[in-house]
Amino acid sequence: MSYEPEFQQALDEVTKALEQSTLYEKHPKYKKVLPVLSIPQKVNQFRVTWENDKGEQEVTVGYRVQYNNCIGPFKGGLRFHPTVNLSILKFLGFEQIFKNALTGTPIGGAKGGLCVNTKGRSENEIRRICNAFMRELYKVIGTEKESPAGDIGVSGVEVGYMHGEYRRLTDRYDSGLTGKGLDFGGSLIRPEATGYGVVYVTDAMIKHATNGRESFKGKRVAISGSGNVAQYAALKAIELGATVVSLSDSKGCVISEKGFSEEQIKNVIAGKAARKTLEFITSDFGFKYISGARPWTHCGPVDIVLPCATQNEVSGEEAEHLIKAGAKYVAEGSNMGSTPEAIAAFEKTRASSESPVWFCPPKLANMGGVMVSQFELAQNAQRISWTAEEVDSKLKSHMIAGLELSMKTAREYSKEGDKVKLPSLVVGANIAGFLKVANAMFDQGDVW
Ligand code: NDP
Repeated sequence: MSYEPEFQQALDEVTKALEQSTLYEKHPKYKKVLPVLSIPQKVNQFRVTWENDKGEQEVTVGYRVQYNNCIGPFKGGLRFHPTVNLSILKFLGFEQIFKNALTGTPIGGAKGGLCVNTKGRSENEIRRICNAFMRELYKVIGTEKESPAGDIGVSGVEVGYMHGEYRRLTDRYDSGLTGKGLDFGGSLIRPEATGYGVVYVTDAMIKHATNGRESFKGKRVAISGSGNVAQYAALKAIELGATVVSLSDSKGCVISEKGFSEEQIKNVIAGKAARKTLEFITSDFGFKYISGARPWTHCGPVDIVLPCATQNEVSGEEAEHLIKAGAKYVAEGSNMGSTPEAIAAFEKTRASSESPVWFCPPKLANMGGVMVSQFELAQNAQRISWTAEEVDSKLKSHMIAGLELSMKTAREYSKEGDKVKLPSLVVGANIAGFLKVANAMFDQGDVW
């Protein structure tokens, strides 16, 4: 077992995608890149301490992994969760390098966070935790070099507190934080961006696979999670005419044969903002709640699967179950949502003419969040605000462009070549992101 299992898993996926393609045969120089790229440029680790509501001192570890800034300033979210450790943040930061490159904009990869359980704490204490974290983080961030955002456990509320503390500590407004409130530099559609982006890219996959005959309309969609990404993926799927049959949280899952309504999802959004459990929020919906379970083996027949909670949340067995249940498209809102066994199970069906499953990895599927974060910084730089329609349409076109680039790259470098109708997006997304960063590293003398 590796000392950093999550990071090793992320590295193995990229290594495999590159080694099993024709990239190294065509261009052997790229073999030199991954050993350099896989080591973060800098890892910041620091003590974070605050006073809790009982007047006691609490202390934990905070991190900012500045992975690679070859194509632009470090950019990536902050996670507040009791499982946060260096392995998880290195996996997330490493993924972020390729994802950010795939957006087509000049942003490097980073990730940070705090090992803390924020559940059950008062708003005052959350504010003190955010302030304490920023008292160290401010030393390494700032628009020109670093740009953090939210992730698990960090919503607009925490971003607001952290941005405020940065401003108080520095007398400057350039925290680079995105996901800010609309009154102080936030962008319309940033909260929705990751979930909407997952649905936009999946819709484009469906249209490609069916030559435009099908879309989300009439499809059954299984979603996990009930946080930021899951909420807006569900709302967009419903808007496009699909039936959302499941949601979950860290305590269990809720299954609805006839589907959640838009109003019910809005209740989930309000309930989660008030830090309630999904079981409590949905208790009067009349749906089935299964304690301690993920939705995949309980959701019945499905067409589309959108894991949107956390890493390694779809096992190989669950993937086999979903394939038998009719899944045709899987797109990961969560980072590394599927285990290697699950990805292998989905990928091996792709060439089958009867029941192919087309799998979209998170580097492509969930890049909508960082894309709109980048739009937020662009608006901040010009001191202007774009309309929701403008942001949404740019988001959609970038998601489609990311899919097209991944398909084109897969056709160019996958050993399957042009023979398959549905090219491997694992190969395409990894290599497309890698090439952009690798070329920049050669050009700037990071690797030679
Ligand atoms: P939130 O904190 O808003 O929601 C996370 C959801 O996942 C909650 O429902 C939470 O349950 C559940 N969850 C967390 N840990 C576990 C676990 N170990 N087992 C089961 N359920 C769990 O986070 P986001 O929605 O922002 O993030 C979800 C995923 O999307 C993450 O993988 C993140 O890295 C990824 N992502 C997020 C982006 C963003 O813009 N927010 C951008 C790109 C990727 P509970 O409510 O009980 O805590």
